Parts: sequence; C-alpha cells; structure tokens
Amino acid sequence: MPFCRRKCIYCDFYSVGERLADRESLVRKYLEEFDARRHEIPLPAKTLYLGGGTPSLMPVEQLSALVEALSARGAIGESTTERTIEINPDDVTEDKAVAWSRLGFNRFSIGVQSFDDTLLRTIGRRHDAASARRVVETLQPLGDVSLDLIFALPEQTVEQWRQTVAEAVALRPQHISAYALMYEEGTPLTRLRDNGTIREADDDIYLEMFSYLTDTLAAAGYRQYEISNYALPGHESRHNSAYWDGTPYLGLGPAAHSYDGRRTRRANPADIRRYLKHNFITPFFNQETLTDCELAEEYLLTRLRTARGIDLSDFQRRFPSLSADLLTRPLPTPDLVAIENNRLHLTRAGIMTSDAVILALAQRL
Ligand code: SF4
Repeated sequence: MPFCRRKCIYCDFYSVGERLADRESLVRKYLEEFDARRHEIPLPAKTLYLGGGTPSLMPVEQLSALVEALSARGAIGESTTERTIEINPDDVTEDKAVAWSRLGFNRFSIGVQSFDDTLLRTIGRRHDAASARRVVETLQPLGDVSLDLIFALPEQTVEQWRQTVAEAVALRPQHISAYALMYEEGTPLTRLRDNGTIREADDDIYLEMFSYLTDTLAAAGYRQYEISNYALPGHESRHNSAYWDGTPYLGLGPAAHSYDGRRTRRANPADIRRYLKHNFITPFFNQETLTDCELAEEYLLTRLRTARGIDLSDFQRRFPSLSADLLTRPLPTPDLVAIENNRLHLTRAGIMTSDAVILALAQRL
C-alpha cells in the first residue's frame, strides 16, 4: 500500500502522497496481479500482511473489497491464521478498528517509534504519544498488538529511551520490533546530518540503548527471537519468521518483493503510475536468480539474526560444496558466536555487533 499522508524524514521505503494513489484502481490491479501470479506460492497463504506505506489510510470499503476478493480466489482462507495490518496511530477510529477485525485482521503492527512528542516531531511522524497509547488500548481486545520503536534518534538521551521502553512494556503488547535509526542515502534525515543540522548518535549511546532494551524486555517476559524482534511466548510473528526461514512469499503492488523458496527473487518496480497502467499479461516484476554463493550468504544473513541460529547439518546439506568449518572457525574477537546442539548462534556480545560478525562470516563463503 505505497501511499503516506506525509513522508517521515528517515524513511526510504517507496511511497507516494495519498492523493496520488487511486486506491480503487489499486485494488483492481492487486487482484489482476494476483490472478497472473497465483501459481507462484502454495495457496491459501498461511499469513497475510498488509504493509506500506500506510495501509491504515485505505478506506474500509476498498479494504473489504480486496480481502473478500482474495478470499473468493482462494488466496487466503481458514488456514490463513495470521493476518497483519500496519497502522499509523493517527488513522485509527473505533469504527475502523472494528471493521479491520471483522475483515479478519488479528495482528496490528503500530508505528509508534517513540513515546516522546518532541522526538516524534523531529522525525516527521504525524501522531503523538497520547494517540499511540489510545490506539494500543483500542486494538488490544481485537488481536495481537506489535509496537514498532526506533532508537538512537538524533538528540535522544538514554533516559528518553528508557521512558519509551517503560511505556511500551506497561502497555503489554504481544510483540515489539525495535530498530536503531538508519541514515539511508537520499533521505532528508541524511541531508540534515551531512549539513551538520543534526548529529548521529555515538556508538556507545547506541549500545547502551540496545542493551537496556534487551535486558528490560527479557525481564518483562519478552523473548528476543530475532535481533530486532521480541515477543511474549507464542506470539512470534509467523509472517516475519517466514522471511528468515526461506519460506516462499508473494508480494503484490509497486515495490513489492517475492521469493519462490528456491533461487528466484522477484521485485516489482517502485512506480505506482506504471503499476496502474500495467496489464499483467507480461510480468511487472524484475527477476533475479541467486547463485549458490548468494544463496549461502542470504542463508547466513537471515538465520544468524534469529535466536535459533544456523543448523550446521542443514547448512551442509543445502550447500555441499561449502564446508561448515567456514562458519565454525574462530573469529578474531572471541565469544561473539557459540555452538550449541550443532547450531551456530550469536551470543549477547555478538547480537550487539551483529553486522560486523555476519559480514566477517559471509566473507569466508
Ligand atoms: S508512514 Fe511509514 S512508510 Fe510512510 S513515510 Fe513514514 S515510515 Fe515511511
């Protein structure tokens, strides 16, 4: 759903202003695209994920038309047990929440980012902390709630981050995703940093915030099942886990990505105008076939981010030309990875510096 009311200054996801998105035509096109590509994954899908952009801006009538048509086509069904919609807190009303629930959505991923109004304004979010709290309370009786948080924001103090984490825990969502702020190329945020208007958080502040988050959530009963994802037991996202497990998925819409579970990745061009004009008799996507080496790198990159880590026998089975010793030889810095029950996983110290560890291991492949 590639449209937003206002662009957040850090965001490099593809999205257009909501006035440019003809949502009725988009729904029609999603269905045309689905009809052309339904053979790509087993159906009905086990999970449905409406991401954005801002799906919560989609009028309920059009959302309902989309969900009903997907059901009628067998894309989703009774076995589609996890159905997530991404939500901007400013878009939620009681009526909309009830309508989402009636349409079968049972997981609400809320872009809270922070419970500090000054920081929310700095990064260009259009909601405030009070509306985020209200929305969590509205949605909680209707399904699982997942909060998105961002840390290491410009000028954010450790104390401000602690307060955001405390507020998040007090609301008792089933799931929390927390990412350090990224300075992506071409975003207004990066320009502000480059021209000296704002300063990127120091590494030690980042580490202190990340450690605090991990410790506090663990004490509150949340399991860090992936580097950036924490869940109460039994509430891990099946959809996100599928990305890390190599499960096939079908992404519809401009800039959506798909994977066939083997070697083929498909990416739709980030261009809503072209998407709306396309006939889907020819594919809209660009396709890439992964080599053995690329597959092994992806395997490493995604699985090492999870608490389960890499099953070394499975690695060996999938990549017989590569030796599992490549992964188990010691790293220059000790104690960043560990092997338990033939599984290689990041230690606490490894999680804190995961990018460097994964890169060091990937270079051996
Ligand atoms: S609402 Fe989400 S997708 Fe839209 S600009 Fe903000 S972060 Fe990006």
